[in-house]
Amino acid sequence: MIEVKNKEELKRMRAAGKVTAAVLKQMTELVKPGISTWELDQAAEKTIRSFGATPLFLGYYEFPGSICASVNEEVVHGIPKKDRILKSGDIISIDTGARLDGFCSDAAITLGVGKVSEEAQQLMDVTRKSLYKAIGQIKPGRRLGDAQHAVETFAMQHNMGVVRDYCGHGIGRNMHEEPSIPNFGKPGTGPVLEEGMTLAIEPMLTAGSYKVRELDDGWTVVTLDGSYAAHFEHTIAVTANGSEILTAFE
Ligand code: MG
Repeated sequence: MIEVKNKEELKRMRAAGKVTAAVLKQMTELVKPGISTWELDQAAEKTIRSFGATPLFLGYYEFPGSICASVNEEVVHGIPKKDRILKSGDIISIDTGARLDGFCSDAAITLGVGKVSEEAQQLMDVTRKSLYKAIGQIKPGRRLGDAQHAVETFAMQHNMGVVRDYCGHGIGRNMHEEPSIPNFGKPGTGPVLEEGMTLAIEPMLTAGSYKVRELDDGWTVVTLDGSYAAHFEHTIAVTANGSEILTAFE
């Protein structure tokens, strides 16, 4: 069952969303050559706690960070590390979340470090746009498959791989709620959207094959062919006329 939030619950979802949005904004300011992914994590945790919120990822199945920091061929779930120093030409996907007043938010962004290749820039641009293509499909009465299909089609048009092993999800009192939201699907299929549903939509695209594997650290997911990957995510609420992005910071 997909939970529908009432006005009061949406208010709290919105407040939780602001925390995660603030972290993403902070990351856009901090990411540059020479900074470690551990420093980014520490800064993120500080920001989350400054709102009186709790980092959603820290301790989740014993994950050691408040952000996932996935560099280049890493797709998701990269562990922040002191010796992972960003350098010009890298791209970094930062995924983070917060719990405030019993409600969760979850969002991700991929940022270029210094000067990145044209190919990497295109990967980031297409992935970001694919997220907004999906969000553009969200409206009461539409089906979730419409949004999933929008990501898939846009990615395929640009010859990007669509990661199939990880997907978006409902979100609310828990980080992961029903439904599961793959980044591919058929229009006119899947659950019918209703006002008050809150969803985390998160396209993960690659510049090569969609195939991925998990490293021995039990967390980091990388592309099988070593191609770069990008990841953009927002927590959104279905509204009467469309949707509201709860983790918007731009
Ligand atoms: Mg998520």
